[in-house]
Order: sequence, then C-alpha cells, then structure tokens
Amino acid sequence: MIKFNQIPYTGKEMEYIEQAVKSNKICGDGQFTKKCNAWIEQKTGTRKALLTTACSTALDMAAMLTEVGPGDEVILPSFTFVSTANAFVLRGATLVFVDIRPDTQNIDERLIEDAITDRTKVIAPVHYAGVGCEMDTIMEIAKRHGLKVVEDAAQGVMSTYKGRALGSIGDMGCYSFHETKNYSMGEGGALLIRDSETAEHAEIIREQGTDRSRFLRGQVDKYTWVDMGSSYLPSELNAAYLYAQLEEAEKINNDRLASWNRYYNKLSDLAAKGRIELPVIPEGCEHNAHMFYIKAADIDERDALIAHLKKNDIMAVFHYVPLHSSPAGRRFGRFCGEDRYTTDTFSRLLRLPMYYGLKAEEVDRVCETIEDFYSR
Ligand SMILES: *Cc1c(COP(=O)(O)O)cnc(C)c1O
Repeated sequence: MIKFNQIPYTGKEMEYIEQAVKSNKICGDGQFTKKCNAWIEQKTGTRKALLTTACSTALDMAAMLTEVGPGDEVILPSFTFVSTANAFVLRGATLVFVDIRPDTQNIDERLIEDAITDRTKVIAPVHYAGVGCEMDTIMEIAKRHGLKVVEDAAQGVMSTYKGRALGSIGDMGCYSFHETKNYSMGEGGALLIRDSETAEHAEIIREQGTDRSRFLRGQVDKYTWVDMGSSYLPSELNAAYLYAQLEEAEKINNDRLASWNRYYNKLSDLAAKGRIELPVIPEGCEHNAHMFYIKAADIDERDALIAHLKKNDIMAVFHYVPLHSSPAGRRFGRFCGEDRYTTDTFSRLLRLPMYYGLKAEEVDRVCETIEDFYSR
C-alpha cells in the first residue's frame, strides 16, 4: 500500500528526547525549544520565533496580538483549514471570505480591496501547499489601509517569496509542525513576529499573561500577571523530536522536491492533453513540496479517481470543504464577491501521497494508476 502520509523521522529524534529527559527538564522553553526558535529565526530572518503547541494556537496568539474584537472584520480565503478562521472568531471578529486564484489556490490579491470596509483590521493570507501568496500586493494594500497581516504559513516552512521566508513577511506568521506537515513534533507550531514590541507582548501572552521572560532575562525584578494569556509552550519532548528534523531540513526538503518534480514530469502528458490540471508555481516563489495535487474535471471524476487509486492500494484525499458553506462559516462570516474558484477547487482537487522517503517507484506507480484511469 502507498500511504498518503508517513511521519518524518531522520534518526536522531529518540536520542534528543532522551537528552531532554536526562537533563531533567521536559516542560517548555528548555534547550531544544530554544534551539528550534533560534533555527527558525536564523533561517527566516524574523525578529522573534516562539515555538507553540500548534499552528492553531500560534494563530490564536496572533489574533490576540492584532487586538481585533467584536465588530472588527478579518479578510481571509474560504479555501483553508478551520484554524485560520477560528483564531479570529474566538476574538469575536467577523470573517470576510474572498475567492482564491485558480492557479495557486491562494487568496486572489486583486479581490482583497473590494472586501475592505471601515471595520477591516486584518488580512490573513494562507500559503496553500507552501506556495507563496502575492505578498507584495497584499502588504501594499495593508499599508495603504492601515491593516495588520497575519500569514497562515502552516504549510510554508522552508518556502520563500521573492527570497523572503513565508511567515516572515507579514506582521506575524504561523508555522505548523503537526504530524502531517513537512517537519513535525506530533502537535506543535511556531509564531513568527516582525517587530520587537509585539514580540515582547507575544512572550507575555504565551506564558499565562505574565512577564516571566523579562524576569528570566533580568529586565524586571519579579514576575507578575500583566495581561491575558494562556500556556502555549510545547513540551521539550516535542521540541527535541522537531529539532532532529530541523537539523536535516535541507535533506527533507530536497527529498520532497524530488518526488514533487517526478510527479510533475510524469503527469505532464495528461495535463497537456487537458485531462487534468497541475499546480502552478509563480515566478519568484520557491516552494517546499508540501503537497502534490491535481485537479480533475469535476467532483464525480475526482471521486472516481480517488476510488480507483484506493482499489490499487494508493491513498489520495480531497481538501477543504469551503468554510463559507459550513454551518460555522455561515454564522461567523460572509463571502465577499463571487465564488468562482473556491467551491470549484474543493470539488476537483485531489492530493497524492507525499512524504519524506516516498520512493521514485511509488511515485511512478501512482502516476501509472492515474494514466490507467484516464485511458479508460
Ligand atoms: C495544518 C494547518 C493548520 C493547523 O495546524 P496545527 O499545527 O495542526 O494547529 C492551520 N492552517 C493550515 C493552512 C494548515 O494546513
């Protein structure tokens, strides 16, 4: 059987977990958490990176830091995971969904301005499949209207847009290290923060609303409760697992890209014949092969293809029931403009097996099974 996903494992994970245990520190912010934070800061050039318990909680923190509240509006795509929306709904904000582009499945930057009202506070672009949104345009719009930008870069670790790391371009960015992502700690994530004032505030929110970090650095002589917050620190055990993979990030990235390119080349004939659509990587975007997807002609063909792959022991999945058509999405938000591509993409897109260590023969077998489907 060819699995859809396989958890990443590079070899040093257990040794590092043992080190954490032997150092008698398995709660948050030990040596491995610090190493992971430093790795992210160095790799992305962001001012501050803080490991969190999930990308979802990094988004929750980011939403708190933007200080949105009831009556405020947040612009985001409907074609995304629920975490992007939940973070702002938890602050009482209203969601304004904007359509996506048919090439990258990212928010269509040309439609954002039409969605801006005098209540808009935040734009939350999502870098689908680790391919960058059109960030220059988004940042320019945000600047002109005085809005904050929170990047959902859950899928974008190791990807860049015009040379800049995804997650480091907006005011804040959020990474995921969930089991299904390129680099994993089981459950976990990170918050990336561009300016120092917000970074200090983020440390406070992350540690139960206390100024403990400042206290540990000797900047205040006692630590106390100064704001709202919660516990967003992951365990050192999880950070130890992650650090082993961050050390091997290039290797993992290259391995995934090799699989991605092999899929792309093998399936290009079918795409040239107009039977399927392949992902598009815009000029200036370096991606991380987070996923390989194709688009079938319609939902029936997509479902038949998933079934055909399954019959051949190959696991493929579809993605994202559009948020604006879900019960909570209808309750907490509205779609601005026309849904030309969001529901269409949900209906036609399927994701093929993709993970570190996927073999070339396996990619070939998936492609041959797809060709077989379309030859009938
Ligand atoms: C995976 C994912 C998340 C959630 O990540 P967790 O670490 O599981 O909380 C959020 N947004 C997007 C786009 C994702 O792909």
